[in-house]
Amino acid sequence: MMLEGLALADIAARFGTPVYVYSRAALIAAFEAYRRASGGRQASVCYAVKANSNLGVLSAFAALGAGFDIVSGGELARVLAAGGRADRVVFSGTGKSRDEMRQALLAGIRCFNVESAGELERLDELAAVLGVIAPIALRVNPDVDPQTHPYISTGLKHNKFGVASDDALALYRRAAALPHLRIRGIACHIGSQLLNAAPAVEAAGKLLVLVDLLAAEGIHLEHIDLGGGLGIRYRDETPPAVAAYLAPLLALFEGRPEELCFEPGRSLVGNAGLLLTRIEYLKPGEGKHFAIVDAAMNDLIRPALYDGWHGVVPVLARTGPPRRYDVVGPICESGDFLARDRDMAVEEGDLLALLSAGAYGMSMSSNYNSRPRAAELIVDGDEVHLVRERETLESLYALERPLPLG
Ligand SMILES: *Cc1c(COP(=O)(O)O)cnc(C)c1O
Repeated sequence: MMLEGLALADIAARFGTPVYVYSRAALIAAFEAYRRASGGRQASVCYAVKANSNLGVLSAFAALGAGFDIVSGGELARVLAAGGRADRVVFSGTGKSRDEMRQALLAGIRCFNVESAGELERLDELAAVLGVIAPIALRVNPDVDPQTHPYISTGLKHNKFGVASDDALALYRRAAALPHLRIRGIACHIGSQLLNAAPAVEAAGKLLVLVDLLAAEGIHLEHIDLGGGLGIRYRDETPPAVAAYLAPLLALFEGRPEELCFEPGRSLVGNAGLLLTRIEYLKPGEGKHFAIVDAAMNDLIRPALYDGWHGVVPVLARTGPPRRYDVVGPICESGDFLARDRDMAVEEGDLLALLSAGAYGMSMSSNYNSRPRAAELIVDGDEVHLVRERETLESLYALERPLPLG
């Protein structure tokens, strides 16, 4: 089994397991699909960093001229360290701290996607102190159902995200009156792993009504940010292709002067990466068997957290009769499974590839059970770049101190 020009077995022998492996060609192809689809129009693609925030991944997108959607000061630092441009960064998130705002103001980001009245006031105050003007958009919660998993729905009335459509006009008026803010645009993001365009189109329609109401009051927007959320195929889902997803959105804004922004995360990186893991033990059970592997829920939490499904492919195809396995890790939790009820012919020591693991895999990993985090690689043709070293045992407690005793 190969990734670009390299055999996964060779990669595992050289770098060990568990290891995340991404394809540079796949990252580029996914990004170019967005650029091509929005082709005729002034549009920017701001990669949602939280999907996979590795510097190697960020630098691959930065080299293509990508913008970035960040949700923390840590992500801003990563973008800049990877060679991304601050003036292409939009900053989303409900809980921006003063320090994060200051950091972003000093870096000179493109836009703050403001999610509350309190945030608007705080931003104006800080900008005044720093003697700068803060560029803002309001993130509006359009109250549409994205028809996805509840944990990754963000655009419903009861979600914590954005400001209610009904409050948006008053907040824009307030923003227009604050001296250290400059109104740039409007934003929304309704959820993740969307499998059809209809909810996004509905949300965009609601945004458009607001844009026109604002224009009537003399508040003219430069950009309209439609967020991310396009889903990918993990198992048998049939998400629209990027072009088909964007087409009705582009049509809705046809002929309008505002620049459109998109904030895709999962659809840029999800299918560009896999998690390579080795089977430590095969353990027979009643009616089902366990393949105990060296990756665990701390490496890939999607199955445990929101029933995420990942394809599991043995790197070496064996001819024996398949058996039904749960693929589980070594962590002391029954939630520590990576896949369930998979029919495979495997032996101890075999490698498994967990597919579609490029998004919300490594970026959601932890050190639970004091497990060093996996290494990360980017394959580029027949070259491989180690873009994150495997953590050492010492690094696990490098910031800790035993109590002084005696
Ligand atoms: C997470 C997030 C995204 C990206 O979502 P995907 O489903 O990964 O495309 C975009 N915008 C905001 C504000 C987000 O929080």
